[in-house]
Amino acid sequence: MLVDVHCHLDDSRFEDLDPVIERAKKAGVVTVINNGASPSRNRKTLDICKKYKIVKKALGFYPGEIIEFSDSDIEEELKWIEKQKPIALGEIGLDFTFGEHEKQEKYFRKFIELGAKLDIPLIIHTRKAERRIVEILEELKPRKVVLHCFSGKLKLLKRVEGVYFSVPPIIVNSVHFQELVKKVPLTRLLTETDAPWMAPVKGEINEPANVAVTVKEIAKIKGITVEECTKAIYANYQGLF
Ligand SMILES: [Zn+2]
Repeated sequence: MLVDVHCHLDDSRFEDLDPVIERAKKAGVVTVINNGASPSRNRKTLDICKKYKIVKKALGFYPGEIIEFSDSDIEEELKWIEKQKPIALGEIGLDFTFGEHEKQEKYFRKFIELGAKLDIPLIIHTRKAERRIVEILEELKPRKVVLHCFSGKLKLLKRVEGVYFSVPPIIVNSVHFQELVKKVPLTRLLTETDAPWMAPVKGEINEPANVAVTVKEIAKIKGITVEECTKAIYANYQGLF
């Protein structure tokens, strides 16, 4: 009963998804949430979800892509996303390694509004913008939030107590994520891969089966069995999505 709440199976690095999905199932993965990052990738996400039952669709607009599109194109995509009934909005967020922060923020706020309207979770990407994300969450108070691969300062955690954190398999090599898991209660943890990125072994293509690696590590840190950890994370997933 493992879940991968954030990955990108539509990425061109995945040539054939059949074996990827097979390995995920074999590892015990029951749900994979593919996160669309642009208009074309949102549509690829839909195709993948039609083909594989265990894959669910989150639709969004990656901040690095937002700045490449016109306002009217983004508005149109927002309307289209609303009609598709996604399970969540993602990948959305702020990434200040890219420019046009005002434009990024304008649409991040629109996605928060849409999430409230549809009553679905927001799966948020943030890089070099964690403080701003926390401020906006404090201001708008969206009810269902997942911060994916959160690499901001851990002292920000106490300002976002109702928020879920999805943890990638690179936790095995990352003191930051190990510390995050220590600090965040088990009731607020989820698992993800961000596949094909963030592989537990450097240079490899990450895939949903690797959430098993994350669960094992979280269990170790929390001092519980892998089975208990799997159940707890699945319950978190069910409660949120
Ligand atoms: Zn991602």
